[in-house]
Amino acid sequence: MPIDPNFPQNHKVKEKFKDPSSESYYLVWGPGRLAEAASDPKVMADYKATGEEIKPMGIHGTYVAVDWDSCIADGICLLSCPVKVFEWYKNPGETGRNDRKDFTDKANPVQEANCIWCMACVEVCPTKAIKVDQANQEIHEKEIANIP
Ligand code: SF4
Repeated sequence: MPIDPNFPQNHKVKEKFKDPSSESYYLVWGPGRLAEAASDPKVMADYKATGEEIKPMGIHGTYVAVDWDSCIADGICLLSCPVKVFEWYKNPGETGRNDRKDFTDKANPVQEANCIWCMACVEVCPTKAIKVDQANQEIHEKEIANIP
C-alpha cells in the first residue's frame, strides 16, 4: 500500500515541528493506518526486540512526504538524495543509508526545503512510501503561517 497518491487530501495536520539545525518547520499528517511496516519481517522483529507497539504514524513532511506506515527503514532514499533532505528519526543528523538505529527507525524529511525535485527518492523507495510534489509547498506555507 504505497503513500496515498491524493495526499494531502483526506489528511489533517496533527503535529508541527521546527528542525533545530535549519530552523524550518515540517508537518506530520494523520490519521495514518497500518501498512507495509506492520508486516515487514525486519521491522516486526525490531519492534518486538524494543518492546514497542506498531501503531499508525502518519505522513511526515508535506511536499517531500514520507508515509511512515509504509516506510520499512530501507534507507535507499537517504543514499539517493543529492541534497540530504532526509535524516534518521531515531538518529538525528545521521544521513547514511545504514545509520538507522534499527528497523523501527524512519526516514525523516526534515530538510524538505532543500529539495530539487529530482524524484530519485520516489523512484527507488521499495514500498513507494514517498510523494514529492512541488504544488504542496503552498499548503505547507499556509499551515506554518498559522503557527503563533
Ligand atoms: S526529489 Fe530528489 S532532492 Fe527531493 S527529496 Fe527526493 S531525492 Fe531528495
